[in-house]
Amino acid sequence: MNQPIYSLVIPIYNEEENLTELYRRLINVIEQLDGEAELILVDDGSRDRSLSMIRQIHQRDSRVRYLSFARNFGHQIAVTAGLNFVQGQSVIVMDADLQDPPELVLKMIAQWQQGYQVVYAQRLSRKKESWFKRFTAYAFYRILKVLANVDIPADTGDFCLMDRQVVDILNAMPERNRYIRGLRAWVGFRQTAVLFERDPRFAGTVKYTFGKSWALAVDGIISFSKVPLRIATYMGMLSASIALLMIILILYWRLFEPSTPLIGYTLITVAMFFMGSVQLICIGILGEYIGRIYEEVKGRPIYTLKETGGINNK
Ligand code: UDP
Ligand code: MG
Repeated sequence: MNQPIYSLVIPIYNEEENLTELYRRLINVIEQLDGEAELILVDDGSRDRSLSMIRQIHQRDSRVRYLSFARNFGHQIAVTAGLNFVQGQSVIVMDADLQDPPELVLKMIAQWQQGYQVVYAQRLSRKKESWFKRFTAYAFYRILKVLANVDIPADTGDFCLMDRQVVDILNAMPERNRYIRGLRAWVGFRQTAVLFERDPRFAGTVKYTFGKSWALAVDGIISFSKVPLRIATYMGMLSASIALLMIILILYWRLFEPSTPLIGYTLITVAMFFMGSVQLICIGILGEYIGRIYEEVKGRPIYTLKETGGINNK
C-alpha cells in the first residue's frame, strides 16, 4: 500500500454493536476521497467482541490497521496512541458510535485543502442526549472559556481534522495529562470550524460515565488554567474580611448590646466550620495540581500495547 494521505483515528471501547455500521459508513466516505486513506482503530481495552471484530476487519481490508491496549486507558489516551502511529498528511479523529457523522469528514477535508491546519467540528445541538449532559456540557465549556489561558472554542469535542504539522507537534508533547481539544487549540496555526448536528449514538450505551466526564472536565481546567490556584488567595481575603467584620460586630455587641445571644458558641462553631472548609477546599485545589505534577514526574509510558495489526512504522 502506498503512503496514505488521509488517516482516520477512532478510539473504541466496547463498541461491538457499532463497528459493522461504522466500517460501512467510513468505507463509503473513504471511497469518495481523492487519495489513499487508512483507518487506525484503537481498542481501548474493550471487554466485548470489539477486538476480534477489529481483527477480522483488518484481515479483510489492509487499509484498516489497529492498536490494542492491555487495559482501558481512556478516550484521550486512545486518541493519543492513534496519533502516534498515523501515516497520513491529513488526520481525522472521530468517535466510534457514529455520533460524529462520517460524512462531515468530506467537508473538513475541503477546508484542509483551502489551507487550514486544524478543522474542528462544532456542535450546533445534541440530539437525544439527556438534559443533564446537555446542561453540564454547556456550563463546562463556558466556565472553561473564562478560566483557560488559551481560547478553546466552546461546544467542540475531539472530532476534528489536523494537518501532519500539528500532529507532529502533539506527538512531541511529553505530557501525560492530555486534554486533546485544549492542546489542539494551544498549538495555533490556521484553525476553522465546521458546524454539525450531533447525532444520537447509533447503538450501545455511553462509555463516558459521569466519573470519566468529570475527570476530563477537571483535567481540562487544571491543564489550561492557573486561576483555581488563585482562588485560594481570594478565599483567604474573603474570610479575613468576614473575620474583621465579626470583630467589629462583637465589639459593638459587647459595648452596646451585652444581652445579645448571638455571641458565644454559635459564632465560634460557625467560624470554625467556615475556616475549616476554606482550608480544605484550598488544599484540595493544591492537591489537583500536585497530583498531576506527580503523574508527569513519574514518567511512565502513557499506555501499554498488547497487540497491533498492520502497524510497522515505529
Ligand atoms: N471511549 C474510549 N475509552 C473510554 C471511553 C470511551 O475509547 O474509556 C471511546 C468510545 O468507544 C467512543 C468515544 O470514546 O468511540 C466517545 O465515547 P462516548 O460515545 O461514550 O462518549 P460521548 O459521546 O458521550 O462523549
Ligand atoms: Mg458518543
